[in-house]
Amino acid sequence: MKKRLTVIGGGLAGSEAAWQAAERGASVVLYEMRPRNPTPVHKTDLCAELVCSNSLGNNRELSAPFLLKEELRKLGSLVIRAADKHSVPAGAALAVDRNRFAGEITQALLDHPNIALVREEVREIPAEGPVIVATGPLTSPALADGISTLIGQNYLYFYDALSPIIDAGTIDFEKTFFASRYNKGDDDYLNCHLNEKQYREFVKELREAEKVPLKPFEKPVYFEGCMPIEELAMRGEMTLAFGPLKPVGLEHPETGEKFFAVAQLRRENREGTAYNLVGFQTKLTYPEQKRVLRTIPGLENAEFFRYGAIHRNTYINAPGLLTPELNLKTRPDVYFAGQIIGVEGYVESCAMGLLAGLSVVNRLKGELFVPPPPETALGALLNYATQKRKTEYQPMNINFGLFPAIDARVRNKKLRNETIFRRALATLSAWRERNL
Ligand SMILES: Cc1cc2nc3c(=O)[nH]c(=O)nc-3n(C[C@H](O)[C@H](O)[C@H](O)COP(=O)(O)OP(=O)(O)OC[C@H]3O[C@@H](n4cnc5c(N)ncnc54)[C@H](O)[C@@H]3O)c2cc1C
Repeated sequence: MKKRLTVIGGGLAGSEAAWQAAERGASVVLYEMRPRNPTPVHKTDLCAELVCSNSLGNNRELSAPFLLKEELRKLGSLVIRAADKHSVPAGAALAVDRNRFAGEITQALLDHPNIALVREEVREIPAEGPVIVATGPLTSPALADGISTLIGQNYLYFYDALSPIIDAGTIDFEKTFFASRYNKGDDDYLNCHLNEKQYREFVKELREAEKVPLKPFEKPVYFEGCMPIEELAMRGEMTLAFGPLKPVGLEHPETGEKFFAVAQLRRENREGTAYNLVGFQTKLTYPEQKRVLRTIPGLENAEFFRYGAIHRNTYINAPGLLTPELNLKTRPDVYFAGQIIGVEGYVESCAMGLLAGLSVVNRLKGELFVPPPPETALGALLNYATQKRKTEYQPMNINFGLFPAIDARVRNKKLRNETIFRRALATLSAWRERNL
């Protein structure tokens, strides 16, 4: 291969993308702006620095996060190899010695004969591709402007306001009803109704619950119309009843009963295996979300595929912009990878870096890239990030709710997940045999 590849950003995604492409013979120039241009959170000049927790998430066999890591292992991921090598005891999680982990990845990139690591900020998208943009949640402002110019201002977001996603198999449907407000729509919403006592109790618990403190650079997000539910609860006891829990236009379809407050859930996927709690973005800690949200009737035993959150972030509306090859529909030589495409988390970002690296190599060889099928964790995440949807695009971590459903008769959650898990590994193996 003669043509060279530019990768912008030496984080989890950019490091993995550069490595995968270089391993397959591409000549890669990897731009990392640190240490000359620091971000508000990175502390070192190392590539693939973990900015916060040193945990790469659940490593328990048969879990969705483990499955994603396992698939990455099977495809020769540099990041997961370094994580396994520098892991530290952390119960069911894969946690690492952060300096050794990032040091190992940086050295591997520096030693690779096909990679040149350039310590420079890229301020605009290069005119000549192929290029992979992997600049993460804290993309430098100059480049963010460049991206915005390229894709259109309305497609670039600067914060996440994530509402929790619940495993449908753990909702008590007997206590809820399907209906759309004022009967507009096809009973698209699942409604959890509260009487006055339950509502006031819920508000009290929300107000008193433990919150994750905001970092100074995250403060402005609240001005963007993504107020956390607990902040709304602090404004007044009835604020939520006029906001995300408003009951107007909703009555029980069989009894005609009206309610003091209603929390609405919307299907997160076609199969209806996951539901999103609409408007419930929150800064409550995860254990507190579980405790407080379980006080809502119907959600007493809810298990969460994703918890709510609010972060400073930079991400594009990938489903409208990217093809499943991770390149722009309007400029096919520009690829995006990592958190900037709306995946959430270290391993998810690395996963999209790996796919972008493979995809570009195929382009350089003049071959078509066949993405991994949605039955795999890599394919499920890619599908989420690139498939058009009617609802607003929100960043996502890997979870079993993203996979195509299996036989509905399998009611046992453990068995269901185990079936998805085994199907994923078998599908990945077949895909790798055929395509790599
Ligand atoms: C405060 C904070 C805390 C987080 N905590 C966690 C956590 O605990 N667990 C978790 O899984 N995820 C966490 N995340 C999300 C985390 O950032 C991502 O999971 C992961 O780092 C994303 O990988 P990435 O490669 O897409 O971006 P990054 O790892 O951020 O890498 C992007 C790289 O691009 C560089 N860069 C940016 N702009 C330019 C430019 N113009 N030119 C050249 N280089 C550039 C940056 O310096 C950086 O090295 C957190 C994010 C933030 C902001």
